Amino acid sequence: MTTKAFVIGHPINHSRSPLIHGTWLAEHGIDGSYEAIDVAPEALGGFFERLRAGEFAGGNVTIPHKEAVFALCDSVDPLARTIGAVNTLVVRDGKVHGTNTDYLGFLGNLDAGAPGWAEGVRDAVVIGAGGAARAILVALKSRGIAKARLLNRSVDKADALAREIGGDVTAYPLQFWSILAPAADLVVNTTSIGMHGTRFEQLNLDLLPSTTLVTDLVYVPLVTPLLADAAARGLRTVDGLGMLLHQAVPGFEAWFGVRPTVTAELRARVEATLVH
Ligand code: NAP
Repeated sequence: MTTKAFVIGHPINHSRSPLIHGTWLAEHGIDGSYEAIDVAPEALGGFFERLRAGEFAGGNVTIPHKEAVFALCDSVDPLARTIGAVNTLVVRDGKVHGTNTDYLGFLGNLDAGAPGWAEGVRDAVVIGAGGAARAILVALKSRGIAKARLLNRSVDKADALAREIGGDVTAYPLQFWSILAPAADLVVNTTSIGMHGTRFEQLNLDLLPSTTLVTDLVYVPLVTPLLADAAARGLRTVDGLGMLLHQAVPGFEAWFGVRPTVTAELRARVEATLVH
C-alpha cells in the first residue's frame, strides 16, 4: 500500500516541501506520496480525524497551524513544547505525535556548511525574538551553547523569550549591536529582514572578530545583504536554504523508513524554484 504524507498550511501553494520529499521518494524508489494540502483553520479538526483513521503516515505543518495543532495532537515532545510550535506530525496506531524539526534543520545546516562550528562558539548573537528565534535558542542550548545575546526591535518580546528559555540568555534592543558584536562568535539572523529588498541599516559588521560565523534564516534571496556584507569582509557564512532541507530529514525517515541525504542536486533543484 502506498505510504502517504503531506504538508498542510493555508495557503500552501508556495511550499517547497513536495519537491524535497518527492525528490527523495524517487531517489529511493519508495512507493509513497507527499502532497500539499490546503487546510483552512476551521477544517483542522476534521483533518486530524483523517489522520487518526490512518489515511497518512504523517506530514508537515506550516503557517498558520504550527501552534494550533498542539491541542489536537495526542502527544507532543518536550522540545516542541519548549519551542512552542509543531512542524512535523507522525501517526502511529491511530495516535498523532507532534514534534519540531526546525532546530535540527538549523544544526544540520551549520554542521554541513561549517563543520565543527559549535566548538568555537561561546558567545552567540541571535537577532529576532519570534518563533524561529525560539527554535534557534533551543538548538544552541542542545549543543552546549547556553550564552546568547538576543537582539530585537521590540526588546520586551526578547526579554520575555530570554526569561522563558532561561540560562545565560539576555535581551537587548538592536542598538546594542555595537557593544555586543566584538565578542560574537556566531551571528544568527532570525528576523525576516533581508527579504523583499530590506536590510539592517545599523549593524556595522566591521565590529565582528574575523573568526565570526554569520548565518541567516532568510533564504529568499539566498545571499541576503547580511550574508553578502559578511562574506565581503572575509567572514564565514552559511545561508538559510540548508535549514529548510535539513529540517525535512527526520520527517521523511519517520514516515518512509529511510534516512535521506541532503545532496547538492536536491539543493540545486530547490534553489531553482526560489523567486528573487
Ligand atoms: P515571527 O515570529 O513573525 O518573528 C519575526 C521577527 O522579525 C521578530 O523578531 C520581529 O521583531 C522581527 N522583524 C520583522 N520585521 C522587522 C523590521 N522591519 N525591523 C526589525 N525587526 C523586524 O517570524 P518567525 O517565524 O520567527 O520567522 C522569521 C524568519 O525566519 C522568516 O523570514 C522565516 O521565513 C524564516 N525562517 C526560515 C526557516 C528556514 O528553514 N530557513 C525556518 C523558520 C523560519 P519584533 O518582535 O520587533 O516584531
